Amino acid sequence: MTIKKDIAIIGTGVAGMSAAIYLARTKYTFEIFEKSAIGGKLNIINKIENYPGVKDISGFDLAMDFINQLKSLDVSVNNTEILKIEKDNNLFKLYSKKDTYVVKAVIIATGMQIKKLGLANEESFIGKGISYCATCDGFFAKDKTVLLYGNEDRAYLEALFLVGLVKKLYFVHDNNCEITDNFEKLIKYPNVIEICGYKISAYNGVGHLESVTIKKSQKEKTFEVSMVFPLSKEIPNNYLFSGIGLNNKDKFISTDEDCKTSIDGVYAIGDIRKKKLKQVVTAASDGAIAATAVIKYLLSLKKDEQDK
Ligand SMILES: Cc1cc2nc3c(=O)[nH]c(=O)nc-3n(C[C@H](O)[C@H](O)[C@H](O)COP(=O)(O)OP(=O)(O)OC[C@H]3O[C@@H](n4cnc5c(N)ncnc54)[C@H](O)[C@@H]3O)c2cc1C
Repeated sequence: MTIKKDIAIIGTGVAGMSAAIYLARTKYTFEIFEKSAIGGKLNIINKIENYPGVKDISGFDLAMDFINQLKSLDVSVNNTEILKIEKDNNLFKLYSKKDTYVVKAVIIATGMQIKKLGLANEESFIGKGISYCATCDGFFAKDKTVLLYGNEDRAYLEALFLVGLVKKLYFVHDNNCEITDNFEKLIKYPNVIEICGYKISAYNGVGHLESVTIKKSQKEKTFEVSMVFPLSKEIPNNYLFSGIGLNNKDKFISTDEDCKTSIDGVYAIGDIRKKKLKQVVTAASDGAIAATAVIKYLLSLKKDEQDK
C-alpha cells in the first residue's frame, strides 16, 4: 500500500518524540516510525538528573511521560522499521517491509549506538559502576576515584568535564604517548593521571564495580575505582541515508542551526546529528527546532507551487 503524508519522522527517541509533539500541534500530517522500543536510549538509562524541570527520573519513566503526551495529542507510533529511502523530485519515498510512504519532508531521528568493549561482567556492571557517558553520570562519582578510557576527541571532552568533579581521574588511552593539545589541557589538573598505550582488559567486583584492570602487551595494572567510563566508538545509525546522498558511512549527519541537512526537506535531530553535546535536553531541543523549520519548508513549497 502507498500512504501519503506531509512529513515522516524516523525514530522515537527523545528527538523524534519531541518533533512529533510539536508537529501534532499543527495542521500537517505525519507518520512516526519506530523499529524497536518506543523511547529509544531512554529505556536503558537508570537515572536522569540533568533534564531541566525534572529533578530525578528513570529513563523508562521519562519515556512513559513522553508516550503519554503523544497519546494525549492522538499521535500513534508506527512500529515499523524504515528499510530504504529514495528521493523523487521534491518528494521522498520511505519503504517498510509492508508499505511505501510518500512524504514531502523527512526528519531523521535514528540515534546512534555505543560500541561496548565486550568484556565479561560488562553488561552486569552497567549502571553499577560502568557508564558510557561522563557528562550524564559523572556527578555520581563526585569526589571519588574514576577511570576514563577512550581515544577520540569525545574522551578528552568528557575527561575535562570530570576533572573538576572527581578526586582522582585515571585517563587511559591506547594511542601512542605523544602529548597532544587536548592532553596538555588535561595535565594541568593535579588530579589527572594519564596512562597511555593501555586498554581495559577486565572489570572486577561483586555486585558493583570495584576495580578495573588495564593491559599493554603482557603488562597489567589494576586500579580501585568507583566508576569507569569506557568511551569507545560511537556508531551513528545512518545506514539508510546514503540512498539520498547524505554523508558517508560511519559519519554523523551535519546540519545547519535549523537541523536541516544538505538536502532540502531532510532534517537530522538528536544523537545522529553532528554536535558536541548529545543529551536528552539537546535531543528534545533539536526536535522542536526541526519541527518548526520543517513547517516553514512546507510553506515555501506551497508558495512555489502557487507562483508557478
Ligand atoms: C548509558 C547512557 C546514559 C545516558 N544518560 C543520560 C543522562 O543522564 N542525561 C542526558 O541528558 N542524556 C543521557 N544520555 C544521552 C541520551 O540518552 C541521548 O542523547 C538521547 O536519548 C538521544 O535521543 P535520540 O532520540 O537522538 O536517539 P535514540 O534514543 O537512540 O532514538 C533513536 C531511535 O530510532 C530508532 N530507529 C533507528 N533506525 C530506525 C529505522 N530505520 N526505522 C525505525 N526506527 C529506527 C531506534 O530504534 C531508536 O529507538 C545517556 C546515554 C546513554 C547511552
